[in-house]
Amino acid sequence: MQKYISQLNEAQQAPVFQKDGPMIIIAGAGSGKTRVLTVRISYLMSLGVDAFNILALTFTNKAAREMKKRIADIVGNNEAKNLWMGTFHSVFARILRSEADKLGYPSNFTIYDSQDSVRLISAIIKEQQLDKDIYKPKQVFSRISSYKNSLITVKAYFNNPELQEADAMSKKPRMGEIYQHYVERCFKSGAMDFDDLLLKTNELLNRFPDVLAKYQDRFRYILVDEYQDTNHSQYLIVRALSDRFQNICVVGDDAQSIYAFRGANINNILNFQKDYENVKTYRLEQNYRSTKNIVEAANSIIDKNKTKLDKIVWTANDFGPKIKVHRSVTDGEEGRFVASEIFDLKMRNQMLNGQFAILYRTNAQSRAMEDALRKRDIPYRIYGGLSFYQRKEIKDVLCYLRLVINPKDEEALVRVINYPARGIGDTTIEKLTIAANHYKRSIFEVMEHIDKIDLKLNSGTKAKLQDFVTMIKSFQVINESQDAFYLADHVSKKTGLVQELKKDGTPEGIARIENIEELLNGIKDFTEGQKEIDGARGALSEFLEDVALATDLDKDTGDDDRVALMTIHLAKGLEFPYVFIVGLEEDLFPSAMSLNTRSELEEERRLFYVALTRAEHQAYLTYAQSRYRWGKLTDAEPSRFIEEIKDDYLEYINPSDAGGYRYKPSIDLDIFGDVDKSKLRLAKPLAGTPPKRNDNEPVSSATIRKLKPVSSNAPNNTNLFDSKLTVGDVVMHERFGKGQIINLEGVGADKKAEIKFDVGGIKKLLLRFAKLDVI
Ligand code: ATP
Ligand code: MG
Repeated sequence: MQKYISQLNEAQQAPVFQKDGPMIIIAGAGSGKTRVLTVRISYLMSLGVDAFNILALTFTNKAAREMKKRIADIVGNNEAKNLWMGTFHSVFARILRSEADKLGYPSNFTIYDSQDSVRLISAIIKEQQLDKDIYKPKQVFSRISSYKNSLITVKAYFNNPELQEADAMSKKPRMGEIYQHYVERCFKSGAMDFDDLLLKTNELLNRFPDVLAKYQDRFRYILVDEYQDTNHSQYLIVRALSDRFQNICVVGDDAQSIYAFRGANINNILNFQKDYENVKTYRLEQNYRSTKNIVEAANSIIDKNKTKLDKIVWTANDFGPKIKVHRSVTDGEEGRFVASEIFDLKMRNQMLNGQFAILYRTNAQSRAMEDALRKRDIPYRIYGGLSFYQRKEIKDVLCYLRLVINPKDEEALVRVINYPARGIGDTTIEKLTIAANHYKRSIFEVMEHIDKIDLKLNSGTKAKLQDFVTMIKSFQVINESQDAFYLADHVSKKTGLVQELKKDGTPEGIARIENIEELLNGIKDFTEGQKEIDGARGALSEFLEDVALATDLDKDTGDDDRVALMTIHLAKGLEFPYVFIVGLEEDLFPSAMSLNTRSELEEERRLFYVALTRAEHQAYLTYAQSRYRWGKLTDAEPSRFIEEIKDDYLEYINPSDAGGYRYKPSIDLDIFGDVDKSKLRLAKPLAGTPPKRNDNEPVSSATIRKLKPVSSNAPNNTNLFDSKLTVGDVVMHERFGKGQIINLEGVGADKKAEIKFDVGGIKKLLLRFAKLDVI
């Protein structure tokens, strides 16, 4: 133990040594907050605190697993095993399971993912004959989610005229009804959505003092990482549980609060001192993660925010290389730059793929990166986006399994009752839904009693419904005695799912079968793992819970070596030697949606701070001057965030321009011979004026063109904007295929062509970007 404590600096040791009482550690990125939590937990255990009495809440399950592993290294595996550690959602899902009956839920309740929730909301909007263009299901869902996270129940909603008025003002007067139906339908299905896991925990702790007392007594020491991103609902849970012993230790960085859009409340960190008595506040100032350049650049950015706690972050690390800024003409070229830089660095420095991360503001940006990495044969992994478990074929299997555990699960049932096709049509499902709502029962229960209810179904249909019920019940029987793998294998065959895909025969169909195999492998792993742990059977219900709460990040076992691609939101708490922050353009990052208020812009800036502080050794900031957004080529200006970093920390790389010119990595700048390299940097515009393309550049793109010939493999490439294209020419475009020019306008760099493509209709393209071949 002593060894681990001595590896901390003095400021880090202080909170470790404080055993009892409320405490907050506020410190900047990379200062060892998470590390302090790990050592503190180990130290508590070394003082004799029982692992069962410690609750640690982390941002991802992966973080919890890693922390547990480190603690196991210090105190031994047997001890560490009993710690309560995980995300809010996973810890409280577990507690809710054992207390579910008190709230009227079955202990085998299903956890709806957001796909399930949105589908159910769409169904309700349709049933209520509301306009889905006004009541957009995803928007309605996020509104309901924010109610729940503010603990506004349906009843509270209807007691609050202001909320109703606000919804009426935004042209959604029936919001409350949708909310009510949604809650009822989830309840009837024995299902909780993500937000319910917190809302219902609050309800449990509020309504049942004995339950609260039980968990207060169990969790005598509570620790929360990334406290700045807790929402109101999470905040109340922590407060309630820590109320008796007041042994609460939270760590966070107000500068890294990036989830306000999902209800995170930065006041939770700012008000901590007021919430508890005799709070000890600790500050850590030394960053161990990053180079001086990165730390100082990050400081200079966050300085621009008005709302912040004063903090010092410094590092004893080397200056390191400057942050590289790269401009490209298109998003495709940006991808090629990143891929070739990674390729080069790997070659030169024998680096592993896993030492690189590419971070972006929106998931859509991953495509250009993926294309480029694939071309270079660089293995990568995308986190977030559509997760493995949400793929259609996987979700189909999972929904059958969910039905086995909880046949009331309406979303699962509606999804698979007629897939593979068994002649149960939409009208039948509609009739079943109406009957279920009428009798306040689940659809499955209605089907079980289909003989006794007159739904005007013909006997053939009734028989099909009964067959389905019998099939699910037969699975339930198997589930009594077999492990999850056996059952899942049986289900995927018996339901006809695999045969259906085999029949399909297309490469996509085969890929889907492979995915199902992958799922089965995962289940096998899980069951074997469970059996090893405590001789358990490896039950299906546990597997499904794992899946429901898994984030993409959790699946990362770290044993395969890949470049990591993810949104900045997901990257919180992580670190990588090399980090590329891509798409640094106005309206993308900062996002166009965040430019209305100062507080929104400040949140974007914090997001940028999070991104930059992930880098240990070298950070890259890249932007493109145009990119395809929503199917249209859009011009872009460099992000103000680049401007906000002091020049001293930056090195501008001046690339060659658009396609047709092969990108040359920065180290090869010598191709310019005697040209003064310092002039190759993009000059900074005068303070206060947004940078304008081509304006202040000492070496203009035209100069570069002279220096570097057009690649010879594209003789017809009309990238040069002084091309001889005329209206009527038939051209080939890399992305859109064949088309005919119907109009030309503008001159020089602004020359645009309107082209009617055979597929995709008319598009207007800037000629200097469009890769057109005349055919
Ligand atoms: P973030 O705000 O990004 O979550 P953090 O404050 O939680 O960062 P950690 O992830 O705990 O910081 O630590 C950052 C890095 O510095 C880790 O690699 C950690 O192992 C290392 N580190 C922390 N403290 C020390 C120390 N005293 N000596 C050496 N390395 C340290
Ligand atoms: Mg951390």
